[in-house]
Amino acid sequence: MTFQGDTVVLGAGVVGLTTAVVLAEAGLVVQVIAEEIPGVTSTAAGAMWGPYLVEPKDLVDQWSQHSLETFRGFAADSATGVRAASGIEASRSADEAPDWATALPGFQPVSRADLPPGFASGYRFTVPLIDMPTYLRYLEHRLRTAGGAIVQQRVPTLDDAPEASTIINCTGMGAASLVSDATMRPIRGQHVVVTNPGLTDFFSEDTGPSPDLLCIYPHGDTVVLGGTALDGDGSLEPDAKAAANILARCTAVEPRLAQSTVVDHRVGLRPTRPRVRVTVDRRTDGTPVIHNYGHGGAGVTLSWGCAREVHRMLTNKQQPASPA
Ligand SMILES: Cc1cc2nc3c(=O)[nH]c(=O)nc-3n(C[C@H](O)[C@H](O)[C@H](O)COP(=O)(O)OP(=O)(O)OC[C@H]3O[C@@H](n4cnc5c(N)ncnc54)[C@H](O)[C@@H]3O)c2cc1C
Repeated sequence: MTFQGDTVVLGAGVVGLTTAVVLAEAGLVVQVIAEEIPGVTSTAAGAMWGPYLVEPKDLVDQWSQHSLETFRGFAADSATGVRAASGIEASRSADEAPDWATALPGFQPVSRADLPPGFASGYRFTVPLIDMPTYLRYLEHRLRTAGGAIVQQRVPTLDDAPEASTIINCTGMGAASLVSDATMRPIRGQHVVVTNPGLTDFFSEDTGPSPDLLCIYPHGDTVVLGGTALDGDGSLEPDAKAAANILARCTAVEPRLAQSTVVDHRVGLRPTRPRVRVTVDRRTDGTPVIHNYGHGGAGVTLSWGCAREVHRMLTNKQQPASPA
């Protein structure tokens, strides 16, 4: 399948904007069309590099690694909202180190005495931490600088998208209705944003399959506190009880947060399916479509790897990476 000419990217979350940047910087004429600019779920992310609630592992590892290298390059420029943060991932049971973290810089076990009360194991490492509102503004700016355009509009079905040489579908949860993907399900997540009492290190708990998460992500003047993972819940309304529980969990681990003031509540729907969909397809009129959605709890982590995959498909250098 050979693609040429104008490319329409549907979706302005981290997946759509990153894909559009990669294509525009490769010299393609790119127009992003999206209902929300930027995507609400992408704005709600914490965000830390690391795979969570996403499959298949082999491709996730490959795509994540490419993103990791790219994010590392951003850390020197504060305008990107990305920094290399040191911190601890801990568990209340004596767990093995998370396999995705062992190769990260500064990786080392933390002694029990240096962990908050109630924790049995923990590991320190340095990882990209991303302030999503700033980062999404950076991506928008980078896209416009490369000549890309962004239009705010809902596109109910693929057939309603304008004529284009190629359509790239980066609609996250929107893909459930846009392309009638019945395998899609939301995993709702909520964060509370508070003023920063002086934190620089991140902290996160390996909570396994629990719907109650615990993460503390400092971003300069503010700290993003999490979180939740409610499978099948598609509501975007902040839940006051969930917010109170998040604050209580995080303050128990980091007592300085008791001095903080709440400045925002963010809710997003992790766009989850059995496997990320990065595949080539066709619209009913024959227009080539490349899907790039279903990144679950790791859309930021996968964004640059998947965008490169889309570019490869578009330039016909590689066959589709994952079956539908
Ligand atoms: C609380 C929370 C914490 C998270 N933390 C992390 C983290 O630390 N690290 C990480 O890697 N990931 C994290 N994630 C996951 C990550 O946020 C998602 O995987 C990612 O944002 C998905 O990006 P997206 O661009 O596919 O979707 P979205 O951000 O939802 O963007 C979809 C875009 O498509 C548009 N759209 C949809 N349907 C249509 C339509 N019919 N017509 C026009 N436009 C349409 C929307 O308006 C929007 O612009 C977290 C998620 C949540 C909720």
